[in-house]
Amino acid sequence: MSQLVWFRSDLRIHDNPALSEAMPHGDCIAVYCLCEKQWQAHDVAPAKRSLIVRQVKALAEALGELNVPLKVLDCDSFDEVPAALAELACAVGAERVYTNEEYELNELKCAQQAEKALVSVDAKLHTRHDQCAVAPGEVRTQQGDMYKVFSAFKKEYLRQFDSRSRKLMAVPDGQSVTGVDNDLSALDRFEERDVYAKQWPAGEDVAHDRLNDFIEEQVKAYSDKRDFPAQDATSQLSPYLAIGALSTRQCLQAAMSVNEGSLQSGRKGVDTWISELIWRDFYRHLLYAYPDLCRYRPFKPDTDRLPWRKDEKLFKAWCDGKTGYPLVDAAMRQLNETSWMHNRLRMVTAMFLTKHLFIDWRWGEKYFMEHLVDGDLASNNGGWQWSASTGVDAVPYFRIFNPVRQSERFDPDGAFIRRYVPELKDIKGKEIHWPTDNQRKACDYPVPIVDHAKAVAQTKQWFKELSETEEAVEA
Ligand code: FAD
Repeated sequence: MSQLVWFRSDLRIHDNPALSEAMPHGDCIAVYCLCEKQWQAHDVAPAKRSLIVRQVKALAEALGELNVPLKVLDCDSFDEVPAALAELACAVGAERVYTNEEYELNELKCAQQAEKALVSVDAKLHTRHDQCAVAPGEVRTQQGDMYKVFSAFKKEYLRQFDSRSRKLMAVPDGQSVTGVDNDLSALDRFEERDVYAKQWPAGEDVAHDRLNDFIEEQVKAYSDKRDFPAQDATSQLSPYLAIGALSTRQCLQAAMSVNEGSLQSGRKGVDTWISELIWRDFYRHLLYAYPDLCRYRPFKPDTDRLPWRKDEKLFKAWCDGKTGYPLVDAAMRQLNETSWMHNRLRMVTAMFLTKHLFIDWRWGEKYFMEHLVDGDLASNNGGWQWSASTGVDAVPYFRIFNPVRQSERFDPDGAFIRRYVPELKDIKGKEIHWPTDNQRKACDYPVPIVDHAKAVAQTKQWFKELSETEEAVEA
């Protein structure tokens, strides 16, 4: 054996740079390091853990078609990964280890340590860019800085994408039979929770089918329908992107195939969907440029001087979907029941937590990670800091969503609320968005835990005072 392919958040054989690069150079063994303690430390949700475990098994099958055996190493935490990889490299006589780059701080450190450990057994680590269609660090201003405004980033990103060939990597030809067996025994202890398996089935074919169906049937209407949670008009591909069962490039190529071969052709639906994928890359580029984002620090450090509340009782009401604001509650219950939440509702609930309850955005960020099947540090942190007005190109602090207006606008007939807040299902007409006191009592639905107008006025005051002290310091 001459090489290992170390799989991480790239659990696929199609369009996988590390795998495609490795296989023509000689026989390969694939390896995946299972790090349960790290999952705990990173708040990886049970649904995401389940999807990963099932996807690793699906990956083993797909690799089997190429005669590539997969070894799952039981490592507990990232600390154990370097030695485990070095030991395997030594045992099978691998001189090269290929992997796709990950940009979060702990993942970067783990790869650096692995590189050192491999050198000690005369093996070399080769890393490839994979997670973004244009690699982090490559989209820069003329001064060489990271863009802090999405529209400017996107313009340069599109220019770079167009000026290069972004072909997908073909699945490599299979190798001859190695005689080495798979070892997936570390996965035996995981119970496959049916509820997750049914809702979020694993497999590249599942992800490809979902992508193809979305492109054929839904992408054209995406910009008109994407903000209406009851319509299920978004792709729901985020869980597959988060574990790398699908690459951003595959999504972009599929979109381009119905967009005159271009990333922006003027067709609103496809162009908008592509922009969302570029937001994903934008947040990864930011994380790479500002590693402090991985340390739960706000992009605007001064916002840490805001008197964020640490109110467990209000926080619990938000988590449980019992705030008395029907759309917020429906959204939180969607998260708790399905491990996924619609994007518009992520913004509504995040803004409610931070701008109505004035609770530290990091509490919400953590709760989302602990529950989302698509939990992803870069996008989650980006979304939370956008909503809390502490981040890059964030919503201005004075533009605070009114949850009732959002409900009237984006769930006009209350279908989504009725789906997730069944106690309100018999309320007719507009009152579904804001039931009367009597209706609440009759339905056993909570009274509002906060007054919208008062809360918003107080939040604006705190942000205003902060910007005034900032101005005073600058003067
Ligand atoms: P589609 O609308 O079909 O979009 C296609 C893909 O584009 C998505 O799968 C996703 O990869 C990307 N995308 C779409 N919108 C965004 C966005 N606003 N920011 C970054 N990428 C985007 N996304 C995650 O993948 N993981 C998270 O942990 C996460 N946390 C979030 C937290 C908050 C507070 C907010 C406001 C947003 C968060 N998002 C997160 C972004 C977004 O809500 C989800 O990516 C999207 O809802 C996934 O649904 P979809 O696959 O149907 O998206």
